[in-house]
Amino acid sequence: MFDKLIEEIKKCNYCERDFGFTPAPVVWGNKNSKIVQISQAPSRIVSETLKPFTDPSGKTLKYEWYKIDDEVFYNKDNFYIAALAHCYPGKDKNGGDKNPPKCCFERWIKKELELIENDIYIIIGAKAAKVFFPQENFEDLVFKNNLYNNKLTIVLPHPSPLNKKWIKDHPDFVNIRLKEIRTIIDEVLK
Ligand code: SF4
Repeated sequence: MFDKLIEEIKKCNYCERDFGFTPAPVVWGNKNSKIVQISQAPSRIVSETLKPFTDPSGKTLKYEWYKIDDEVFYNKDNFYIAALAHCYPGKDKNGGDKNPPKCCFERWIKKELELIENDIYIIIGAKAAKVFFPQENFEDLVFKNNLYNNKLTIVLPHPSPLNKKWIKDHPDFVNIRLKEIRTIIDEVLK
């Protein structure tokens, strides 16, 4: 059932008319991945490589925040790398990436999350956090351990270079919280 779902996602072109180009669904992980990581949407670079976090955000996330190498990060037994949408949605009129299409979450992501037997979730960025914890303040979520589906859930700010100000304004994130998060991840991946 899980494999069939993944094959269907890889063939999906539901948003082609809205995007104005052929969607390129990015799917990474397996049914037993220990960590389900959910961010906003693939970047243009990732939509070309079809490998998540092969962009500047990925460098920060993997090497500076998690402090793990690609061998660990891309091991599908370790990380299921999802987002609010599987495809890069194109640019908005200000030159930023468009919001992820909402239909993808209902159509695919919800079903994936029901089937994956993960230990913890990592939610990346305020937009994704709003979907999972609509009533909670984003900063509060980052600095505490949360529960989603009765599983430990970590919330991170987006590691994009565009988010440097948030990181600078919250030094406790790098100095304290990231150390706690690395301990949790190391424990789960042991
Ligand atoms: S974003 Fe999701 S629903 Fe839209 S084309 Fe890609 S996989 Fe399909």
